[in-house]
Amino acid sequence: MVSDSLAVNSLGHLTCGGADCVELAKEFGTPLYVFDEGLIRRTCRDFKRSIDEYYDGNGQVLYASKAFACKEIYRIISSEGLGADVVSAGEIYTALAAGFDPANLFFHGNNKTPEEIEYAIKNGVGRIVVDNMTELDTIETLAKENDEKVRVILRIKPGIDAHTHNFIRTGQIDSKFGFALENGEAMEAAEKTAKYENLVLMGFHCHIGSQIFTTEPFKAAARVMIGFMDEFRQNTGIVVPELNLGGGFGVKYLDSDGQLPFEVFMQEVSSTMKEKAASLDYPMPRIYIEPGRAIVGPAGLTLYTVGCVKTIENIRTYVSVDGGMSDNPRYALYQSDYDIIVANKAGQKKNYTATVAGKCCESGDLIQEHAPMQRPEVGDILAVMTTGAYNYSMASNYNRIPRPMAVMVREGEPRVIIRRETFEDLIRNDL
Ligand SMILES: *Cc1c(COP(=O)(O)O)cnc(C)c1O
Repeated sequence: MVSDSLAVNSLGHLTCGGADCVELAKEFGTPLYVFDEGLIRRTCRDFKRSIDEYYDGNGQVLYASKAFACKEIYRIISSEGLGADVVSAGEIYTALAAGFDPANLFFHGNNKTPEEIEYAIKNGVGRIVVDNMTELDTIETLAKENDEKVRVILRIKPGIDAHTHNFIRTGQIDSKFGFALENGEAMEAAEKTAKYENLVLMGFHCHIGSQIFTTEPFKAAARVMIGFMDEFRQNTGIVVPELNLGGGFGVKYLDSDGQLPFEVFMQEVSSTMKEKAASLDYPMPRIYIEPGRAIVGPAGLTLYTVGCVKTIENIRTYVSVDGGMSDNPRYALYQSDYDIIVANKAGQKKNYTATVAGKCCESGDLIQEHAPMQRPEVGDILAVMTTGAYNYSMASNYNRIPRPMAVMVREGEPRVIIRRETFEDLIRNDL
């Protein structure tokens, strides 16, 4: 099994967080997003513990909420003592509606609108992570107008290639995110920030990509970033206190994927940072890490009902389900791997290969191609693993398909955390 959440019960049914997935499908209908609260909380604690043990507790874990944002996840994250990274006023709004402490919010994004920046300032968002010069100037202007001192962090492109999929690689110079180091832009922005009256420069941020399975790119980024902090100190005499190394910790989508234990990550990154800081006689900065996928991805799965099975002789078999790219666009976007299990036959061998197709009018609306699974039949409950991250948050109403419900399972007991959209919801804003 690809996640600790999963098991097979005495009926041969797949379970998630101790709840029988076939029963969940019966009770709540499909498609259905299912989350294991226990695994989410254990993962939060693992990340926190890794900072306590290997970085003297001098840091904070920020949940990258774009992976899965809704009121209940903000409540869970906040009760575990994590901060959150938000990328729009909509995410800030949701976090605040859930009672999240705004001081623990870090506001990211490469094109925050002036309205969003003002909304963040007025609501006391803890840090704004500045992406570009225009934004830097806008924040200063709005901070002055609102008579606030705004704590900012600058997003830097450290020039690290994290060897993941092209669409999810962000640390190199050719990226829409952040200030480049190579051309002096990052230093110019930092020096400008230091001169601005209503901004407090707290430190620097980098995020080198996603689905990263080795510590090497993070260590390389940490060395570059501390080197940059030292250079900034030489130029200005200012020691900034914070370094945010971003997220991107890889998770298992298939049994064949490896997963790096978080404590190994923190142990290695921490010792690299200590070495680099010592060599430059730079005080150890407070560290932030921003896992999104790693916290919610493996804790979620999606249940569908099989509507038809179409075998094209000598080519392939399509298994069509009652959802698709409208609830999970990731295969269509970047051919993501998924482990598929027929939930009501989970005790049986996977001796069949099929392509899982959605119900949208788009040939590319596939969830997985040529995937091993138990023999699927009409009416079966098909489960797609590791869909907790970037599924609900990327879902749409394409073809006017209502977005599914989400349930959170705690000690085997499910509760609805996001209602299923209704047809009325679909026309709510139509005039
Ligand atoms: C997307 C993103 C993250 C989280 O990435 P994961 O791969 O989900 O861990 C963290 N920080 C920033 C700035 C991001 O854009």
